[in-house]
Amino acid sequence: MLIEAITMKDFEEGIKRTRSVIIPFGSVEEHGAHLPLGTDTIQAYEISKRVAERVPVFVCPPVYYGLCRSSKKHPGTISIKGNTLRKIVIDVIDSLHEQGLRNFLLFSGHAGGTHLAMILDAAEEMLEKFSDVSIGVISYLDVADEAWKGELECAGDSHAGESETSLMMLLRPNWVKGTSPEEYPSFPKYILVKDKKSYWQGGVWGDPSRASEEKGKRLLEKAVDFVTEMVKKVEEFNNKSTCDVAT
Ligand SMILES: [Zn+2]
Repeated sequence: MLIEAITMKDFEEGIKRTRSVIIPFGSVEEHGAHLPLGTDTIQAYEISKRVAERVPVFVCPPVYYGLCRSSKKHPGTISIKGNTLRKIVIDVIDSLHEQGLRNFLLFSGHAGGTHLAMILDAAEEMLEKFSDVSIGVISYLDVADEAWKGELECAGDSHAGESETSLMMLLRPNWVKGTSPEEYPSFPKYILVKDKKSYWQGGVWGDPSRASEEKGKRLLEKAVDFVTEMVKKVEEFNNKSTCDVAT
């Protein structure tokens, strides 16, 4: 059930069938010279939509903006502050909880470390606040680690490379503009630099030339499998906790 597409009445009926919801997160961020700025959000939302075709679960409209540290100065990146992201997470979960939802899977298509830390910190706060919720937090890189073993040729695939390009060739073929050179950025260790773009000229982390639509199909299928399992896990954990309390 896509929350943006259903009515008030549909929501009332839906809540009788499931108390679970996926909140997709993304970013508006450079993805090399060949992928659209909305790549992270599009991927997280498209995977979540397919999960909702398999199991009863609500899917929130995606949180389009994220915190982008390394790519902040690249053309087109629109980054929000950590506190803003934390507040969005807190407010959205608060409101969904008020609506009766109890099992939350936060799925971020953007996997920046600081971005994820903000989501995690806010989720922990919500876990402390409510005694009846179960919360899971996963990112695109967790999907890669858990679901794509043996699928990728490029060991250092991370950003606008083999996997993201393959998925976008499948999901938004008209938005993919050829390819970009293979690239692995190297930022100064321990030192923060303002002009991160000079250390990451092309905005790619990996090798997009190894991408294909066929590979995108396999990756999408496995990603949907993994996120579906995560929805079930979050639900089971809540049932388990409730049982523990009851006995
Ligand atoms: Zn990305």
